[in-house]
Amino acid sequence: MKWRVFGSSEFLIGGRPVLVKTLKLRDKLGNWRRYRIATVANHLSSPVYIPAWAYLAKDKEGKIGAMITGSYFRLVKLGRKGQAQPTLFVSLDALSRKARRKLLIPLDYELFEEEDIILAREKNNEPYYIGNKKSRNFHHSGCSRAKIISLENKIIFYTRREALEKGYTPAKICKP
Ligand SMILES: [Zn+2]
Repeated sequence: MKWRVFGSSEFLIGGRPVLVKTLKLRDKLGNWRRYRIATVANHLSSPVYIPAWAYLAKDKEGKIGAMITGSYFRLVKLGRKGQAQPTLFVSLDALSRKARRKLLIPLDYELFEEEDIILAREKNNEPYYIGNKKSRNFHHSGCSRAKIISLENKIIFYTRREALEKGYTPAKICKP
């Protein structure tokens, strides 16, 4: 499974996107509810009832859920009264069984439960490194310096060796 940097977020996304029309999430009272999810062009416009896309998304601790984005990377809106937002990270049980199964096809994974939600992790969860194309240094994925590298200067290495072979130097601050 090849992961790629997702915008300026701390998430990596992978696999092929799957269309989603609804998400099952807890409301403010803690009850499970199914919300319609739609793409909107801006904060004021009403949903156009184009569904949204879900990608597999992995956080820096290796926890895997789904990243929901609008079509053509526009905003997503949850329910009728929800706020429009660029993206939404949800656990795997928020998706329909069909969407979840489709998303997980390319992944060698195991599911686990955390605070009542279902997430996945890779069976061989390899660490990864983040390089800076400008300084030619590379960092641990969790390093605070790595987080501020701009998207166009960011490059992912799946092994330390790969980074070294491409001529990158371990950053002095986190010594990856
Ligand atoms: Zn660092």
